[in-house]
Amino acid sequence: MRFPELPSFVTHLECGMTGERLPADTIHNLSPQGYPILVRYDLDGIRKVFTKEKLRERDWSWWRYREMLPVRKAENIVSLGEVVTPLIPLPRLARELGASGDLLVKDEGRLPTGSFKARGLALAVCMAKELGISKMAMPTNGNAGAALAAYASRAGIETVVFCPDDTPAVNMNEIALQGARLYKVNGLINDCGKLVGAGKAEAGWFDTSTLKEPYRIEGKKTMGLELAEQLGWELPDAIFYPTGGGTGLIGMWKAFDELEAIGFIGSKRPKMIAVQAAGCAPIVRAWQGNQRHAALWENAHTVAAGIRVPAAIGDFLILDAVRNSNGFAIAVEDAAITQALHDVAKHEGFLLCPEGAATYAAYKQALAEGRIGKGDRVVLFNCAAGLKYPMPEGGQPLDRHGAINYSQL
Ligand SMILES: *Cc1c(COP(=O)(O)O)cnc(C)c1O
Repeated sequence: MRFPELPSFVTHLECGMTGERLPADTIHNLSPQGYPILVRYDLDGIRKVFTKEKLRERDWSWWRYREMLPVRKAENIVSLGEVVTPLIPLPRLARELGASGDLLVKDEGRLPTGSFKARGLALAVCMAKELGISKMAMPTNGNAGAALAAYASRAGIETVVFCPDDTPAVNMNEIALQGARLYKVNGLINDCGKLVGAGKAEAGWFDTSTLKEPYRIEGKKTMGLELAEQLGWELPDAIFYPTGGGTGLIGMWKAFDELEAIGFIGSKRPKMIAVQAAGCAPIVRAWQGNQRHAALWENAHTVAAGIRVPAAIGDFLILDAVRNSNGFAIAVEDAAITQALHDVAKHEGFLLCPEGAATYAAYKQALAEGRIGKGDRVVLFNCAAGLKYPMPEGGQPLDRHGAINYSQL
């Protein structure tokens, strides 16, 4: 892949809560008020030079949207061969559920490190390189740590990663193999986050926690850009997003506003639907209670480790997007997640990750309750490759020396 010199359209950064203007090209974590920071661009400038025609000549990776991304120098791009992830229809299951609209899954498992965390962390690492950061630390439920380790090692940046000690083994091992110093903590992701916060001054780490640096959102924004282009610049009726820290939901919502500002799409927006597990549903509870922020969820548990996030620092940004889109937040039981994973694998030949399965379970529930129309075009997110997760043992032993009744096999 070749990267011609990048035009740069970032004008400034701003506090996601107060809108206070902050300078670009300098290191930031949270805003002075303690909220996530958003990156702002000269959208009129982008509108003048960035056209749909221009996209036709470009490689199918998120760098095709480079005018809308924050990296200023091509030499700071760190790449592991990113792809535009496909939209895979589930026609058989849609028919069984009585839906006539398209049911599509954006399969993020095709990305480097096998999850959509690659989007956010790739951009965070590119910007860390651009800003001269040499040590990055983060708490993770698995996939974020893996993506950070991979991209940072490729950029020559040191990483220290903390995960709950019951994180899926494959995640812990890939993080360590890809060059991070990994610590397995007897606690949840918010406990790991506290360790990063407590140690960063002494150890000289840059805190790369979800939404505590400005650029992961920009990476996750590319999901919205791709989706719009893949659907012919016509957004779907609803997006079901498995919500932990909510970076992707916030990023896509930002993408849609920016696409409208540069004249690529109109004002139609999908319902943004935040999907959580019943055993860890702080955003659902806040949405139902009409709260601006989500209180910490005690005793969080779910089979979908990627969305086991008891407290999200960008809670108000998630809730704003859900409300402004006329969407909703919905919780699904672990049993429904597991059932969904089996159904989609068996009937559509598509092995989802548990978090992706949660979006199918939520779709099924919302359709049955009439919260989603049968004719709606819906996009679900499969955030990671199903192969990264433990699977139930399958198959039966067969004695090749014994008598085999072939018609019974
Ligand atoms: C991180 C993660 C999520 C949640 O994504 P956010 O954008 O942080 O809400 C969902 N599923 C998987 C597999 C993840 O790794």
